[in-house]
Amino acid sequence: MPYTLQAYLDNNATTLPAPEAVDAMQPYLREVYGNPSSAHTFGGRAQHAVAKAREQVAALLGCTGVEVLFTSCGTEGDNAAIVAALDALPSRKHIITTRVEHPAVLSPLRHLATRGYRVTELNVDRQGGIDLEELRREISGDTALVSVMWANNETGVIFPVHEVGEIAKQNGAMFHVDAVQSPGKVKLDLAKEAAIDFLAISAHKFHGVKGAGALFVRKGTRFRPLIHGGEQERGRRGGTENVPGIVAMGVAAELVLKDFDAAVTRVAALRDRLEAGLLAKCDHVVVNGDRDHRLCNTLNVGFEFIEGESILLMLDTLGIAVSSGSACSSGSLEPSHVLRAMSVPFTAVHGSIRFSLGRYSTDKDVDYVLEKVPPVIKRLREISPFGRQAPNEKAEAERRREKIESGRRFFGKRPEQHRV
Ligand code: PLP
Repeated sequence: MPYTLQAYLDNNATTLPAPEAVDAMQPYLREVYGNPSSAHTFGGRAQHAVAKAREQVAALLGCTGVEVLFTSCGTEGDNAAIVAALDALPSRKHIITTRVEHPAVLSPLRHLATRGYRVTELNVDRQGGIDLEELRREISGDTALVSVMWANNETGVIFPVHEVGEIAKQNGAMFHVDAVQSPGKVKLDLAKEAAIDFLAISAHKFHGVKGAGALFVRKGTRFRPLIHGGEQERGRRGGTENVPGIVAMGVAAELVLKDFDAAVTRVAALRDRLEAGLLAKCDHVVVNGDRDHRLCNTLNVGFEFIEGESILLMLDTLGIAVSSGSACSSGSLEPSHVLRAMSVPFTAVHGSIRFSLGRYSTDKDVDYVLEKVPPVIKRLREISPFGRQAPNEKAEAERRREKIESGRRFFGKRPEQHRV
């Protein structure tokens, strides 16, 4: 089936690499392919490029170059931070996180819960916010690590990381922040956020390329590597650096800083227009997440009484790329753990769609979505056997599974989906 991308509104999943970043990496793919660890001049050129990118990323984070450790992705940075934090405080056996973290944090922590650690997952309220009082109640002298994301990838809700960090420090715990969704959307100034010990970012989320990320490790923090090997990254991560990807990330970081305020204002205006348009043109729509503490680019809406997966498939045929709040994993339709933690009603959680804009989103994208989405919603409501009645959860799950299978037969078998 021919496919033409008309509107890419899935920037929280990944972003278009900036042309400047792609251009900058070319010489390191074609000509300057030396190993940065080699003693010769040719390797030194690659090393020089890595050093330059380190300063560019440090500028983005508001830290110093020695505090930047290059990784392969956000997931690696999160895992490395967790391992290092626990190693720094070996006698403490308690970890605090939230119920709405990305699997890059939740999954290693749930694994550690089977290896002798006690893991507390803080609740969120209906708006997706955490309660600092719950954190104060749970934290103790046994808490080794507090790991809280800066902003949620599904709803865009921003957490009060500054306050969380203060509480962690008052109790002598390490503090890790998953900031994978933050660059280009939130100003990061780690010189001012003294309580943050570790912070992970990922290049492909801010117009760099896949396969490169960075972990901020505050100077003076004890650090045991996740990946043992050679002496790369000052002995903190074994493995030859992804020089082209790192170069591209440096340039992407520079681009973020160049026009930060203007880009945030422009993207927020587009997102707000999209939100207002959908609320005006569609019935029974709810916005998921705190609209006052939300990333400028993210809009998560629940179209009640219909299924996100059906919406997603229909929008896909129209060339609109978005994400749904329920994804196929292990052959079953799992509603988003984030929206469930927020107690979004069953009727809306299944019909949730995330629109995430980016630096290259345009008015044309928003116009196209506002033209195409309302008729899709109307049509799906008409054919929904449940009308506006809340369906029986079990029967509905069965019916949805059947529907997804028929969707798969139509679109061809795709690998299992999960939320990013
Ligand atoms: N953390 C958050 C909040 C994310 O949104 C993602 C990716 O979706 C990750 C971590 C993982 O990043 P990566 O895909 O670079 O491993």
